[in-house]
Amino acid sequence: MSFSDMPVDVGPVYEGERIRGNQMYVELGGPKIDKKFELVRVNQKVEDGKVTIHGPDLKDMEQGSRYPIGIFVEVAGKELEEDLEAVFERRIHEFCNFVNGIMHLNQRYTNWMRVSIQAFEKGLNSFEMLGTILIRLFKAELPIIEKAQVTFYTDAKMIEEPHAMAMNIYNARDERARGLHDEDVDMFYGCVLCQSFAPTHACCITPDRTSLCGSINWFDARAAAKVDPKGPLFEVPPGECYNKEAGEFEGINEMIKKRSLGEIERIYLYSGMEYPHTSCGCFEAIDFYIPEIDGHGIIDRNHDGPAINGLPFSAMANQTGGGKQMAGFNGISIQYIGSPKYQQYDGGQATIVWMGKALKDRVAEFLPADLVDKIATEEDVQEINGLQAWLEEKKHPIIETDGYKAAVGGEEEEEEEYEGEGAMVPMGTQSFMIPGAGGAGGFKIILKNCKIHAESVIIKKIDSKPKRK
Ligand code: SF4
Ligand code: ZN
Repeated sequence: MSFSDMPVDVGPVYEGERIRGNQMYVELGGPKIDKKFELVRVNQKVEDGKVTIHGPDLKDMEQGSRYPIGIFVEVAGKELEEDLEAVFERRIHEFCNFVNGIMHLNQRYTNWMRVSIQAFEKGLNSFEMLGTILIRLFKAELPIIEKAQVTFYTDAKMIEEPHAMAMNIYNARDERARGLHDEDVDMFYGCVLCQSFAPTHACCITPDRTSLCGSINWFDARAAAKVDPKGPLFEVPPGECYNKEAGEFEGINEMIKKRSLGEIERIYLYSGMEYPHTSCGCFEAIDFYIPEIDGHGIIDRNHDGPAINGLPFSAMANQTGGGKQMAGFNGISIQYIGSPKYQQYDGGQATIVWMGKALKDRVAEFLPADLVDKIATEEDVQEINGLQAWLEEKKHPIIETDGYKAAVGGEEEEEEEYEGEGAMVPMGTQSFMIPGAGGAGGFKIILKNCKIHAESVIIKKIDSKPKRK
């Protein structure tokens, strides 16, 4: 496959390219744009090679501005089935990133792209070119695809209808997956598509745990593994279940050990605190631990502003991602929040004390009805200091737990050992107090025979003590 007719190079070598604000010609989609999407559908009537643009083309855009972006790829092929659409769709991210001068982040309705000034000046001035590149890559990398056509939407009005269609399709896919649970199946799946960014990360995809990017559910993974068993999505026989509550399976452990090249040995599928699932970078939401309450908060990628712990999504994403096991910061799909298995080892949905408002509205119907009104959002409580009073007023079930009472009462809990997998500094056994956090006496962290690698450490001052009963 040749791209010599294109003004810029195309290849996997450009995948990690970052385009900063001052280097960008235009931004497409992203958090500041309301409607954006990318969708793949099977349609046997496609016109191979056709690229259509609804809205301004790249050359008509104003430098430094932002525009909506819809990328609708239609594919045809004798062996294609609808279940493959989501997995093909996930490849848009990778293929766009192959283009020198294009940066692509996220997926589905959170896609975010930048085109560099340099690429534009070299002549990458039309979506016609990007569409042609995508079509060639889809057909070359996925030979099951025989024909493809691409339609771009870049106008706020013109994107409305296809955006609504895409949202309906995402919902239908999620809906189907919601009816199935881990105990109903005898095969799980894995995905290593994100290893180019996070080399020790592999997703475990089960009916209850849709991939953390939210785009590949169990049905999608099954279809992809069937047509290309040696590809990035593959079967993972669950084997013996060592711990039902935690979701620890022999087959998942073996898979992660092999795929992380020995870095990670165990995964508890249903815990964000012990042997948590790794996170690459494209998680839809972050499930974070709130030590002051011994509860959990969830912030999604679209949330504007800080979470209850004072940190915005971007700051927490730095700690969560990268393919490490990060106890207390777990990248998850939105679908997983509504699963009855959601972090059940840590106490499950009943430990959710805070969520971004828009996210809560979205998942409310999948949470226990008597819990929904007891979960605070940014509209109810703005600071961690106010959370305790709010939870007690609403009689959130967390207030009955020993963990909560210890956290807000400043009592010392039983010493627990936390093992951390990482690299760098061997610490031996260390113990230190962090005063002023987590109640009157602070909390004690004991590290035994562990190695610590931290990209950043955030120590936040808490201005006043939480109100006590
Ligand atoms: Fe695959 Fe997981 Fe990456 Fe999604 S987040 S593309 S499932 S590795
Ligand atoms: Zn990823």
